[in-house]
Amino acid sequence: VFQLSIPLNFLGSVYRELRQSLLDMETLFNLQKVNIAVKEPEKPKSLQLRKGGEIRFENVTFGYHEDRPILRNLSLTIPAGQKIAIVGPSGCGKSTILRLLFRFYDTQEGRILIDDQDIRDVSLQSLREAIGVVPQDTPLFNNTIEHNIRYGNMKASTEDVRNAAKRARVHEIVDGLPEGYNTMVGERGMMISGGEKQRLAVSRLILKDPPLLFFDEATSALDTYTEQSLLQNVNSILKEKARTSVFVAHRLRTIFDSDKIIVLKDGHVAESGTHSELLAAGGVYAELWHAQETSLGELDDVEKNAEQP
Ligand code: ATP
Repeated sequence: VFQLSIPLNFLGSVYRELRQSLLDMETLFNLQKVNIAVKEPEKPKSLQLRKGGEIRFENVTFGYHEDRPILRNLSLTIPAGQKIAIVGPSGCGKSTILRLLFRFYDTQEGRILIDDQDIRDVSLQSLREAIGVVPQDTPLFNNTIEHNIRYGNMKASTEDVRNAAKRARVHEIVDGLPEGYNTMVGERGMMISGGEKQRLAVSRLILKDPPLLFFDEATSALDTYTEQSLLQNVNSILKEKARTSVFVAHRLRTIFDSDKIIVLKDGHVAESGTHSELLAAGGVYAELWHAQETSLGELDDVEKNAEQP
């Protein structure tokens, strides 16, 4: 019995940890990327959002392998209640910043503070409860659409679920299905598109209504029109509730209205400011913006030409 209890306990804690990391975070990020070795502090306190959710990185250095740092001496502040965007070349560490905030990994140097509390000093549960993420790809549960949205807040009423779906611009689609919100999705259910999945993930987040919201390329599979109207709805919720939010994005048109845009390069902040400040500065951001606008312009031209009889 004694011999058995050790591995079972161990497995139990791994399982709990996995369950917490995955389900609390809506089965987020990639399972292989989840490091379950971060330790619960010895005397965990609950995270207190006294300032409303200010995030600070102080001289953070981190790499998945010690000898290959992704973030180098990175310092940045995200004021409470603001909408911040993180942009930069592929692989520069944008999603890594979100993974560190969620404490999938600990920093090698420096620290991360939320409202002046080092995130290593607070309980994992209180940290993860305060955060909601829409990741690049949200796996769905093999269950109904209703369940998949309600997972954000099991106490939500049917009406709350529908309101969240409306704001995430997916209600009309679901309502039009023969079985509506009772439609089964997931591996054994209906096939749903990447864009629909993203909207279900946003509905779930709206229902969870956490103080800190992270969007990791969360609307990349949507057409421009749906994306814009969903983002407008999300923005109005963020403003109304004064939530702190971080958007990781490639397409600058989705984030140019942020309170601050942080451009990452080579593991640190290359520049930061509002859209107009960064355009005026004529640096990396301005270059990226002009490149994207030019290619969008070309795309518009192709579409216009295609419409010609
Ligand atoms: P993208 O814009 O392409 O999503 P990103 O800026 O979000 O990229 P990250 O996902 O943060 O980049 O990854 C930063 C670097 O770390 C990349 O080079 C990536 O290959 C590497 N990386 C990410 N996860 C792991 C991991 N679990 N183990 C080892 N290396 C990893």
